[in-house]
Amino acid sequence: MIQAKGYAAQSPTTDLAPWNFERREVGPHDVQFDIQYCGVCHSDLHQIKNEWFPGIFPMIPGHEIVGKVTKVGSHVKKFKAGDLAGVGCLVDSCRTCDNCKEGLEQYCLNGSVGTYNSREKNGAPTYGGYSNTIVVHEDFVLHISEKLSLAAVAPLLCAGITTYSPLRHWKVGKGHKLAVLGLGGLGHMAVKFGVAFGAEVTVLSTSASKEEDAKKLGAHKFVVTSDKKQVKEVTRYFDFIIDTVSAPHDFKFYLSLLRTNGTHILVGVPPKPAEIPAFSLMDLRKSVAGSGIGGLPETQEMLDYCAKHNIICDIELIDIKDITKAYERMVKGDVRYRFVIDMATL
Ligand code: NAP
Ligand code: ZN
Ligand code: ZN
Repeated sequence: MIQAKGYAAQSPTTDLAPWNFERREVGPHDVQFDIQYCGVCHSDLHQIKNEWFPGIFPMIPGHEIVGKVTKVGSHVKKFKAGDLAGVGCLVDSCRTCDNCKEGLEQYCLNGSVGTYNSREKNGAPTYGGYSNTIVVHEDFVLHISEKLSLAAVAPLLCAGITTYSPLRHWKVGKGHKLAVLGLGGLGHMAVKFGVAFGAEVTVLSTSASKEEDAKKLGAHKFVVTSDKKQVKEVTRYFDFIIDTVSAPHDFKFYLSLLRTNGTHILVGVPPKPAEIPAFSLMDLRKSVAGSGIGGLPETQEMLDYCAKHNIICDIELIDIKDITKAYERMVKGDVRYRFVIDMATL
């Protein structure tokens, strides 16, 4: 086994702290890489706090992982030592079901294996990217361009693909009015992609202080959702809302901002189920939909698109010892716009 170190939560009620653990040896199809940066997703916090379901502890979060390959197995074709590499939310899937065959590994009908808080096919728990090294089957490792800032690429592995995928699926672009609900890690990438795809983008935010940033990110409009006058101007206005909110919120209100045939796309995963009145949907034939991360081919497509169009995340680089403070700010909505851990501080 390979000796590794990371930051783990020993239980849902303890803060993250240093923890030594083991990774599997590099198998014939595996790639091992030194983790240089790991993004901090709100899903990390939901999971270490058991907000979704009982987790597997000790838990090392982190699924926005980038670094440099140190070792590859004898059958590995796609990577060699020294290459940049990335891993997102998935480290394995069945590869044989209809969805896997289509490159939708996130929807594997036999259950995909998450990068952490999950179990390998042999039952071993998986550990995430708040650590110094990782070993992953080459099919689940992504190529990263040398062109972009590596730290600012890390969050593309979750925040990037989670917003790119639904915008592509629903073909959001020219002629569409897109609302991005919540300007955090996912939200700020939804703004960048929405603008790049040609939509008119409006940020719907609870934080008036984010207006200037929203405009810098490329948003055409900014609406503070507590301001009745501003809200009136966008009532029955949007074709799509991409909802990145991490906490319970009022669907009846947000659905009133969709125009006829509009779609509210859920990517945020609040801990409690939403209450959605039927009247909010039958009037103007609206839909509520959901989308989960993205498959491997689409994640590579997104990374290549970002390299080509110079799209990276706006990040705040932190030391790993400050992770609990970063979580506290995240809960307050004070993320500008993704914390990324500099793993050299481990
Ligand atoms: P984040 O950086 O904390 O951003 C969430 C934003 O939502 C906040 O910045 C805030 O923006 C807004 N917000 C927070 N509480 C709110 C409330 N009570 N009412 C209205 N708005 C509120 O989180 P993130 O990392 O982007 O993740 C967002 C959600 O997506 C999380 O639930 C996460 O687990 C989920 N997620 C899902 C997937 C997937 O595959 N579907 C993948 C990754 C993450 P304002 O200040 O602008 O209001
Ligand atoms: Zn995530
Ligand atoms: Zn499958």
